[in-house]
Order: sequence, then C-alpha cells, then structure tokens
Amino acid sequence: MEDAERSVETSDFISDFIKEDLASGRFSRVHTRFPPEPNGWLHIGHCKAMSIDFSMAARFGGKCNLRFDDTNPEKEDISYVEAIKRDIKWLGFDWEEREFYASDYYEHLYGLAVKIIRKGNAYVDDLSEDEMREYRGTAVADKNNITETPPGRDSPYRNRGVDENLDLFERMRRGEFPDGSKTLRAKIDMKHPNLVMRDPVMYRIRREKHYRTGDSWCIYPMYDFQHPLSDAKEGITHSLCSLEYEIHRPLYDWFIREAEVFPSRQIEFARLNLTHTVLSKRYLLQLVREGRVSGWDDPRMPTLAGLRRRGYTPAALRDFMTRIGVAKTDSTVDIALLEYCLREDLNKRALRVMAVLKPLKLVIENLEAGSEIELDAVNNPEDPGAGTRKIKFTRELWIERDDFAETPPPKYYRLYPGNSVRLRYGFIVTCTGFEKDSSGNITAVRAVYDPSTKGGNAPDNRKVKGTIHWVPAAGALPIEVKVYDYLFTPERPMETPPGKTFLDGLNPASLTTVRDALAEPCLLAGAGAPVSGGPFFQFERQGYFVRDTEDGAGGRPVFNKTIGLRDTWAKIKGKQQA
Ligand code: ATP
Ligand code: MG
Repeated sequence: MEDAERSVETSDFISDFIKEDLASGRFSRVHTRFPPEPNGWLHIGHCKAMSIDFSMAARFGGKCNLRFDDTNPEKEDISYVEAIKRDIKWLGFDWEEREFYASDYYEHLYGLAVKIIRKGNAYVDDLSEDEMREYRGTAVADKNNITETPPGRDSPYRNRGVDENLDLFERMRRGEFPDGSKTLRAKIDMKHPNLVMRDPVMYRIRREKHYRTGDSWCIYPMYDFQHPLSDAKEGITHSLCSLEYEIHRPLYDWFIREAEVFPSRQIEFARLNLTHTVLSKRYLLQLVREGRVSGWDDPRMPTLAGLRRRGYTPAALRDFMTRIGVAKTDSTVDIALLEYCLREDLNKRALRVMAVLKPLKLVIENLEAGSEIELDAVNNPEDPGAGTRKIKFTRELWIERDDFAETPPPKYYRLYPGNSVRLRYGFIVTCTGFEKDSSGNITAVRAVYDPSTKGGNAPDNRKVKGTIHWVPAAGALPIEVKVYDYLFTPERPMETPPGKTFLDGLNPASLTTVRDALAEPCLLAGAGAPVSGGPFFQFERQGYFVRDTEDGAGGRPVFNKTIGLRDTWAKIKGKQQA
C-alpha cells in the first residue's frame, strides 16, 4: 500500500486505532468485513455499520468482505441473503465479489474446536440449558444497588479427560445424541467476573435444516466461537462491530489465542438509535409477521428497502452517516436530522410538479371553454439542466380544497370571495363567487383572470399575497397518494412503561391514503413500470413524492409522500442555539 493512501485525514477513534496498528506493525494492511446474519432485512442501523466497515477499508486502501454470519439454521433463509445483497448494492457499497459464508467454514471451525479440546481447554457438558444457566450465576444488586456477579459453580462434567471429550464431540457430530442433551464448552473460568467468560458454549446440537448446508450438520457453532475464527480465516485485521459486543471482546481474543489463528482485532462503536424508530431485526420481524405493516419494505419501516420505497436516496443516507460520525458511546439521534439530509438531497434532484390532493373545481369565467393558454413551468429551479415544460391554462382547473375559504380566517392569503391570488406559473385570478350543493358543500369556485399577469408579470406593480398550485382539468391524471407519519408515536418506543410493549406505541395514524388526487399528466411521462429509486418529485407546496412499487385500486398510480417541505431540524438546531 502507498503511504499516500494511508495518510487520508481522519479524526475518529477507529481510524486512530487503525493508524496506531499500522504504525506499530501490528498489521501491515487493513481488511474489514460486514457480517449480516441472514435472518431479516437490513435496517438503517446496519447502514451505519456498513458505512464504517466499507469506508475504513477504503480510507486505508484496504478491503471489505461481505460475510453472511449464518450459523442459526432455524432463523436464516436464502431470501434474506438476496434482500441483503440488493440493499448493499443500492447503497453503493461494493464487496467486489468477496462474498463469504460462515457456514462454509463449518469443517474448519470443527477442526479448531478439536484443537482446543486437545489442549484441554474445551469439554463436552451434559448439563441442560437451565442447569447451565443456574451454575453460571447472574449479576445481582447488593444493598447499595451495586451489581456483583457471585462466582458460578463448575459443571460436574468439567473435568472429563481429553480423549473422552474428543470421542463425545465426534459422536455429537455424528448425531448420536438428542438435541439439547450435550454441548461443547470452552474451559475458561466459572468464577470470572465477566459472565461471558464462564465456560461459554461453543457448539450445540440442533437438528434443523440449514438453508445452505442442509442436513449435513446437526451441531452448530455459537456466535462467540464462530465469529472471531471466521474473521481470522479471512485475515480480517479490524473486526468492527457495535457496542453490545464489547463485553465479548475478551472471549473473542481467547478463542483467537487458543485456536492459534490470525490475530484479528475487534473494535466496537456506538449503535445507531433513532427517535420514533425501532432498530432491531427481532422486533421488525414481529411487525411483519403480525401484519402491523405490509412487509419488510413497507414505506414506514426503517429497513433499507422500506426507506427506498418511501423515496430515500443512497446519497441522503450516506450524508446522514457522515454527519452522525463514528462515536464510542451510545446515543439516540433525532430522526429530524435524517429528514434534513433527505430534504437537502431531494431539493437538488426532485422535479417540481403540481398535484391537488383534495380537488375543488375552479372556473375561470372570462376564459371560453375550449381555449387554451400555454404556460412555461420550470422543472427544477436548483437544476437548470432539468429544463421547462408547458402547462395548459384552461377554463376549468382544479385547486386544493384548503386553498379556498368561504369566510377567511385571519391571515388567510388564499382564495375567498373578492380576493386575488396568483396561480403558480400562470395568472393572477380574483374570486367572484362559488357554488354549493343542496347539502351546503362547496362544489366549485368562480374567478376571473387578468391576462396581463401571465407567468409572473405584474403590471402596475400589482401584488398578491398568495400563490396557489393547480392542475388543468383536461388531462388531469388521477392518482392515489399515501401520506405517512412516524410508525411509533413515542420518541423512544422501546422504553415502555410497565405492562406495555413497544406495540402499544404504534401510531394509528401512520398511514393515510388519499384516493382521488389529481396531478399534471407529466408525472407519468417517461416513467414506465413502477420502480423505486425515482424519478423523485416535489409536489409544489406539499412535499417530496415518489411513485410506489405497487399500483392502487383500478391500476391508479400510487405516489408515496417521502417527506414534507418544512424543515424541523433547522428549528430544533435554532432552539438549541438560542
Ligand atoms: P439486530 O439487533 O437489528 O437484529 P444484529 O446485530 O443482530 O441486529 P446482524 O445482522 O448481526 O444484526 O448485524 C450485522 C452488523 O450490523 C453487526 O456488525 C452489528 O454490530 C451491526 N449493527 C446492527 N444493528 C446496528 C445498529 N443499530 N447500529 C449500528 N450497527 C448495527
Ligand atoms: Mg447480531
């Protein structure tokens, strides 16, 4: 590796550790891995882990492997492998064909377990899971509320001889013993203050078909044994993981030492937590299984697939990851920061269009039926290259129901009898009246337009306070719109009061479907079958929208509201600075 590549400036604690390791000669290169377990879809927390794994490798001119950590046959599936790969690619990270599976190492790991048994440092135990837990002991709080871990007790099988252990372990593999009747344990110290070090289980017997190895194994290695040795097998120098693995680090090092393999180094960083969000595959799976959401890719889910379908961009997510940085202590990030990053990016790329969610007819009295006036509309003021389009101004138009009031509330600058507004890209119109049906609902608004005010012209310095969006009635495109709110109402959905679960925090109003919205026809121009990942739209005055992957009733295109226009993050920051 060139020195120039190494000297990329960085200031986070992981880079500092890596620089030290390179300077001291502990490692001469950098190789990381991203190790998802294929038991669920990736969420935005994994995005943080992945960004760190791939970016550390890139910064130091190293490599990053993708390794499926697949040693729990009951929960894993090939469909998860595929979803995970698709999501990583979407974010723009590239493992360059270095795709590995811990399940490919079963034979290798078995051999290392035998090696540790031979050294007298692992034994076959007959205690049941419950007995083992009881022998191990738990942390207890003393009278001053200081937690202590009273010493555990040795298993009666702890002193089996090496030969007996080798024989029993081999017979475990051959399938001579029922599930749960025996385990292989590391012989460390049952009095160790760290419970993780009290003779942890290395292998258990489990007759369960594995999605890759099928029925060839009935014993499966445990995470703590498998992970360091898989890292070592791949020559991983820096095994970066979230903070909950910190107490497992002495065990990570113990297995590497006992197996006498490549000395990978584990470094922990803070997990990502987000307000109003649950980031644990176990609970996300529960939401999917119980039908609380439409699937892993429900646009309200914090999964990468859900975020993509909602209209998030890889650029926004990567910007967010850069802004939150690499911290060593856990904290909860305000979801408004994520939304800020999203708006910043969408503002640059979204095409502006007009759509009316709750349509109300506007009749231009001084324009004849059948006549059309062409107007020019800018597709994206942030991107001159996006060009302009034509919109037809006609006698009948649709406006937003909320943009008309029979009797205006204070500071209402939109349409009401006698008042004038500008129709975006078009003319100033003045409200002359309205129509009601027999039950008193307003069915149409009437107005006259001022031909001299076309496209922003304002002769005689004529000023109006409001500009409203609209859609020409002829050719208006019927669409369905889905508007989202947070899936969880509480800021910290996992911190529940006694007797409640995180499910009690589900927001009953997290999805609103608007069935009879109308949009400019250009919304579909050039957009073929529904896909996620754009094109991205800004419905003027309303927010950012993207076409959903599924159509609505009657084949109507569905548009997901990605996020509104109002920036709550700037407000929060303002408040903090004040
Ligand atoms: P979950 O708790 O959601 O089930 P996990 O840790 O069990 O997550 P894995 O597939 O084992 O899921 O995780 C792969 C990698 O992602 C691990 O290195 C893990 O440390 C990291 N990771 C998981 N959740 C987060 C998070 N919220 N923030 C940062 N990193 C995370
Ligand atoms: Mg895990």
